[in-house]
Amino acid sequence: MKRAYTAFNLPDAQLMADLLARAGIRARVFNQNAVGALGELPVDAAQPQVWIEDDHRLEDARRLIETHQLANIRGAPWTCRACSESNPITFETCWNCGMADGTARA
Ligand SMILES: [Zn+2]
Repeated sequence: MKRAYTAFNLPDAQLMADLLARAGIRARVFNQNAVGALGELPVDAAQPQVWIEDDHRLEDARRLIETHQLANIRGAPWTCRACSESNPITFETCWNCGMADGTARA
């Protein structure tokens, strides 16, 4: 088990867990019911956290989360024509398969 993400709130954590699950990475949300513990724990520990079951997927998980966050910040993502993965507008090539965006953004 590895922690992949510390969320701002529970919906955020759930969203990321779903995102990872769709990519085939089994994820769990912890601290879902930690509201009562606020004040006793460091803030960081009381926030919902997304943990993945397979340690080897940590890099993949972090990249997915990062991609998702970048997409939210910078605008609409583009979809890779080769593998159908979603990429942030800032990426020149697909994070998943490396294929160039090509005419997708024209
Ligand atoms: Zn691709």
